[in-house]
Amino acid sequence: IDTDESKRHLLPKADMLKQTPTQPERVKGAFVVLVRNSELYAMKSSMQYLEDRFNHKYNYPWIFLNEEPFTDEFIQLTRIMTSAPTHYGLVPNEHWSYPTWINQTYAEECRMKMAADGVVYGGSESYRHMCRYQSGFFFLHPLLDDLDYYWRVEPGVKFSCDIDYDPFKVMKDRDLKYGFTLALEELSATVPTLWQTTVEFAKSHPQYIYPRTRPDSLFPFVTQDNGLSYNMCHFWSNFEIASMEFVRSPGYRAYFNHLDKQGGFFYERWGDAPVHSIAASLMLRRNDVHWFYDIGYKHDDFEHCPTEPHWLTYGKCYCDPGASFDQKPGSCTGRFLEVTNKTVHDFIVAQPD
Ligand code: GDP
Ligand code: MN
Repeated sequence: IDTDESKRHLLPKADMLKQTPTQPERVKGAFVVLVRNSELYAMKSSMQYLEDRFNHKYNYPWIFLNEEPFTDEFIQLTRIMTSAPTHYGLVPNEHWSYPTWINQTYAEECRMKMAADGVVYGGSESYRHMCRYQSGFFFLHPLLDDLDYYWRVEPGVKFSCDIDYDPFKVMKDRDLKYGFTLALEELSATVPTLWQTTVEFAKSHPQYIYPRTRPDSLFPFVTQDNGLSYNMCHFWSNFEIASMEFVRSPGYRAYFNHLDKQGGFFYERWGDAPVHSIAASLMLRRNDVHWFYDIGYKHDDFEHCPTEPHWLTYGKCYCDPGASFDQKPGSCTGRFLEVTNKTVHDFIVAQPD
């Protein structure tokens, strides 16, 4: 039965009677994790949090990706963490290697210089392949072909509140393209020429850019001087729930290809977080992006904890609202709220009674 609301009136009456409105509509969503075999136990920990707080009720599949084959141990010990389907995929070599136009000698010099300057992951080659993969290729993996939405998960992250609703369904019902929990400032040493490269793209591909003069443009989230410079704000992509349609779109793919040609994934250390975030800010509208305020989340030392007292009770959160990064210097959540002209209350999905 076609349950599409807009076509409902076209259905014969008998079919309408057969519909069971209480049965939740499935969304084509899955957890997508790029992970190494060595991160097995941190991975199991992330799974435990998500299964306990959310997925035991929904059973969304888990998709694991790796540029090396997963070990039997990894497969067996992650599979037992969930009753949902689990899938294990290999990243093709073309997506995790140097393109022909990259000068590898120069790339190595750049890494050595960034390492000497003490830039986090500045000397790491694998980190750069990872950021490039997460920027431009993960959505091409055949295991993701049937998905409409992905929820990115990393090993070692924590979820501190019950998630009593289906975020995938929220994405679908509200026609959202991108969802985040934490927004913060990027280390400027990792992206010296990312903005200028972006501006060149915007000028040469105006058909993909949402006009920044429109009142619902998200452009001011990433620039405070009307496009002269990048303010370093980005959505932290270790958590993201986003639409596959967005990352697969011709505009997004043209943007990635333009960046990739310039070489900054290797000569600098462009992260997938600023890349996703700048693309969203250039191509989407304010209402396409959702702050998952009510999802308590921690990655490394950065944490988002809901701060509304009634919500903390309703969500059975264990996090300390005082530790939430949202109010602290370096957070860009305040800027997101300002730019979108919204408050915390606009983002609470499951309203407690
Ligand atoms: P950080 O969050 O920026 O500190 O970087 P992480 O080390 O957490 O890496 C980001 C994500 O990519 C995590 O899900 C990692 O498991 C994954 N990752 C990082 N490097 C590699 C790698 O070389 N191979 C694979 N398969 N996954 C990686
Ligand atoms: Mn991480």
